[in-house]
Amino acid sequence: MNILVLNCGSSSVKYQLFNMDEGIPLAKGDVTRIGMSGAVLSHKPFDRPMTKVSGDILDHIMAIEHVVSILLSPNHGVIKDKSDIHAVGHRVVHGGEMFTSSTLINEEVMMHLRNMIELAPLHNPHNMRGISACQKILGDIPMVAVFDTAFHHTIPDYAYIYGLPYVLYKKYQIRRFGFHGTSHYYVAHRAAEILNRKFEDLNIITCHLGNGASIAAVHKGKSVDTSMGFTPLEGLIMGTRSGDMDPAIILRIMGLEELSLHEARTLLNKHSGLIGISGVSSDMRDLLEAKKEGNNRARLAFDAYCYRIKKYIGSYSFAMAGLDAIVFTGGIGENSKEVRAKVMEDMDWIGAGIDAEKNNSTKAIESDISSSDAKVRTLVIPTNEELVIARETQNIVGKNVQDKEVKTSR
Ligand code: ADP
Repeated sequence: MNILVLNCGSSSVKYQLFNMDEGIPLAKGDVTRIGMSGAVLSHKPFDRPMTKVSGDILDHIMAIEHVVSILLSPNHGVIKDKSDIHAVGHRVVHGGEMFTSSTLINEEVMMHLRNMIELAPLHNPHNMRGISACQKILGDIPMVAVFDTAFHHTIPDYAYIYGLPYVLYKKYQIRRFGFHGTSHYYVAHRAAEILNRKFEDLNIITCHLGNGASIAAVHKGKSVDTSMGFTPLEGLIMGTRSGDMDPAIILRIMGLEELSLHEARTLLNKHSGLIGISGVSSDMRDLLEAKKEGNNRARLAFDAYCYRIKKYIGSYSFAMAGLDAIVFTGGIGENSKEVRAKVMEDMDWIGAGIDAEKNNSTKAIESDISSSDAKVRTLVIPTNEELVIARETQNIVGKNVQDKEVKTSR
């Protein structure tokens, strides 16, 4: 079975095509700058070099048409016919309280997704646009929605409720949902495999540190807390997002600077975090360079970033009453030895610590960077959200076929 995995954002579509029978990716790529001038399709067949095509790509339908056509192209393609795509798995950011696991997409599911757009106005509409585009282009093939929120549905009520009037939770679902669920699930599960222990026996803290960043407490195979909340703005300091802060601050700034709701949202989501503190960049590589050159605000942003991660690791070890492993993933977690070293400083008192040489030499590959006497293992595990989406899609489509067979044989 070949499964196309799609992650549709506001102006981009990321894709990966898997051959699930062989368990290998056939090709991957992305379309960027959709609806802007100079849109680019970057495509990399598994066994050949990357190729780039630029042109006007006005919307998600055109973007996915380009993806399908390059997957079929004589020079860069990996399949012969559209019908060689057997199912599509879509990343959907928000599943609300309704979708606690992946689901086969049908009209009813689309209706529920439409009804919950208010929960994720910056993400879900683009995910849904991708689904509709696929339905137009690929016709009646099975499609599955895999939700970022689903892995966190096991968070207990005392951890997901905010200290606000309860009626707001009942009326508007104001509660912690958490995001990056497929990534936290994948790396936590891989950690158990690497440690050769049962997933259900372990307390694992997973640090997904990309442009967006979140931490999860995975207790006996279930997410029991996570740093992102009602939206992906809460928790860690991120590239351009503030993370945790006193909510009164925003009320005060809105008054002082006479900001509209839209401007306040932009301030917190686009101009805060690493870029806001440093004034240099939201990109950790630029920040590390500037810090090396003696830029004090870059140093401050780096220190604040690492300190926030450390605080979460501390609180989640207490929440789980124990800790077996800490996992670093995402662009920064996988690549930045500086961030890992700073976060892991002075943790020997809880039995955690890293080996400087192992930390310095690992390069975005699975590795155990713990010091040899550490009881709490520290692992670097590159995330693979696409693979999780492909596997979920395969399971759901397979189950659906079986259900149909049972019904017809009755
Ligand atoms: P996204 O959340 O958009 O998927 P990524 O997971 O790709 O983002 O992470 C992007 C972040 O990873 C950026 O801050 C980038 O600077 C950082 N990063 C990538 N490579 C390195 C590196 N070698 N050293 C430090 N940071 C890196």
